[in-house]
Amino acid sequence: MTFVVGENCIKCKHTDCVEVCPVDCFYEGPNFLVIHPDECIDCALCEPECPVDAIFSEDELPEDQAQFLELNAELAEVWPNITEKKDAPEDAEEWDGVEGKIQYLER
Ligand code: SF4
Ligand code: SF4
Repeated sequence: MTFVVGENCIKCKHTDCVEVCPVDCFYEGPNFLVIHPDECIDCALCEPECPVDAIFSEDELPEDQAQFLELNAELAEVWPNITEKKDAPEDAEEWDGVEGKIQYLER
């Protein structure tokens, strides 16, 4: 099993999650983070750290976000590792909860 970063991280990207991960398995794109499924040890520490509730365990991933399971695996192979928190985008709060953010995902 793995944990998965879902849609609400897009354009929010607060990065609180990376600070707590004991195996440093977060990877960073331009406006989204992903978890490497082969490195995640299912410790669940990151889930409550996300201020916008964007992290799910694989078996609790909402059906309408099913594509994010594959997206995390795919992008974790190509994006660089991130282990330290950085400032969120200035407009992060405005994007919290906006639906359909997948269209804004930058690769
Ligand atoms: S804390 Fe949440 S919004 Fe921030 S980078 Fe991690 S998953 Fe994305
Ligand atoms: S569940 Fe644990 S190992 Fe997996 S991404 Fe979150 S903090 Fe890292």
